[in-house]
Amino acid sequence: MKVIIIGAQGGGMTAAARLKRNLPSAEVIVYDSIDYVSFGACGLPYYIGNFFDNEKNLFARTVEELQNTGLKIFIKHRVLSVDEKAQTLTVKNLENGQKKVENYDKLIIASGATPRDFEICNNTNTFTVKTLYDAHAIKDKIAKGEVKSVSILGAGFIGLELLEAFKNIPSVDTINIIDFKHSLTSNILDDDFEEALEKELRKHNINIYLKAHVEKIDNTGKGVQINAHTNNHNTDAHHESFTIQSDILIVSKGFVPNTHFLDNITFKKLPNGALLVDREGRTNIANIYAIGDCASVYHKIIKHDVYIPLATIANKMARVAADSIAGIPSKFTGSIGSSMLKVLDVELGKTGLTEYEAKKHNIPYNKTFVEDYNHTNYYPGNARVFMKVLTNPDTGVIIGGQILGKNGTVLRIHALSAAVEKGLTVEELGMLDFAYAPPFTRTWEALNILGNVASAKKKV
Ligand SMILES: Cc1cc2nc3c(=O)[nH]c(=O)nc-3n(C[C@H](O)[C@H](O)[C@H](O)COP(=O)(O)OP(=O)(O)OC[C@H]3O[C@@H](n4cnc5c(N)ncnc54)[C@H](O)[C@@H]3O)c2cc1C
Repeated sequence: MKVIIIGAQGGGMTAAARLKRNLPSAEVIVYDSIDYVSFGACGLPYYIGNFFDNEKNLFARTVEELQNTGLKIFIKHRVLSVDEKAQTLTVKNLENGQKKVENYDKLIIASGATPRDFEICNNTNTFTVKTLYDAHAIKDKIAKGEVKSVSILGAGFIGLELLEAFKNIPSVDTINIIDFKHSLTSNILDDDFEEALEKELRKHNINIYLKAHVEKIDNTGKGVQINAHTNNHNTDAHHESFTIQSDILIVSKGFVPNTHFLDNITFKKLPNGALLVDREGRTNIANIYAIGDCASVYHKIIKHDVYIPLATIANKMARVAADSIAGIPSKFTGSIGSSMLKVLDVELGKTGLTEYEAKKHNIPYNKTFVEDYNHTNYYPGNARVFMKVLTNPDTGVIIGGQILGKNGTVLRIHALSAAVEKGLTVEELGMLDFAYAPPFTRTWEALNILGNVASAKKKV
């Protein structure tokens, strides 16, 4: 069997390695237009922020190591198009410009996604953060002493992680975070958590511009000027129209699936262009699979296909697609949108539905928000924990959980993920036999408290 994979990062290489293990005799060929493989983009904020120096840590394996396992890997090769009837694709060698046509028995598309508004970035003072070269460009500028102020456009996961990264760079004295939404948490959690997050950011002198609609970005010779307007008076953007100037601008407005080169094929897609797949990664076109940031994922609670570009999902879908091709029964039963991040000293996590998502998908819910403490008050590191559950109003089954806290608190989201995944009720969460020791929890673990408060509310 001859399998071709387009894309050699998290999704593509996980599938390739698994396929080679499943089917040692299969010919597995991987193409990527960039010049590296098995790259972990998730570490980029911490590399930019000098949390570590050796960029090799961002790579799971080298081309040579992977080739030694029998995979055929071609970097600097762009797949220009696919002919699904002939089962061939056209590939261009980006070094010498030569094109070739290659046939396949099975094709896995793992072409990822590109940052939204990528085209407005010039890598001189306006950047996106996706590739190693983006990080190099930003780090070079910092090293030259040209970055004292930074604006970040988009308060999603990556924007907030980058905020922490820039705060770690001594030469950076001004950080602006800008979003058109009404709260910093709204891309991640419900508004109940906003105050705690904003408090932390203001403690670190971060300038927050919310409800800020950017009209124009001017790359001036020395930096960037952002012209925006707002009708909100609760943020640092006090005026209807305002400008923000900084040495550099990071655009982190989400991602667009890389599927345009496949426009000639009648793939079923999500509205954003992500290829629609089943739970084994199959598209609607025979012998073509899609995985990772270029593909949809089934959401177990919403009960339809959605777009969640996360490494966790890319890896799991890669594994099931490789198993499916090898004839090994395997299924990703679906995502529940679990994710987490750290911003300065604050940790945020979510699983299942937020209120925003439940409303958007017309899913009825009850909600309970609780504040508690991470562990005993006498052991150092005692800190407040903010938690929320959404439940099915009829059954009390947990359909979503959110958490914000400090000192490792966010890891409690794993227990909530298991609760959502397995359909536990709030009563069951309240009596779950969590462990206790003073440095870690209290006798009644915070999640027990959350479950008990929610079930008491249900009985009223
Ligand atoms: C800064 C940052 C932080 C992140 N943090 C987290 C995190 O904390 N947790 C988490 O779960 N996820 C995180 N993610 C998301 C995670 O990195 C992605 O979900 C994951 O990389 C997706 O892998 P992929 O293989 O689907 O796509 P990609 O990593 O985008 O790889 C796709 C590859 O396909 C290649 N390609 C595209 N088109 C073609 C073509 N026509 N021909 C040849 N090659 C092509 C591209 O060059 C690219 O190398 C983060 C992402 C970023 C950018």
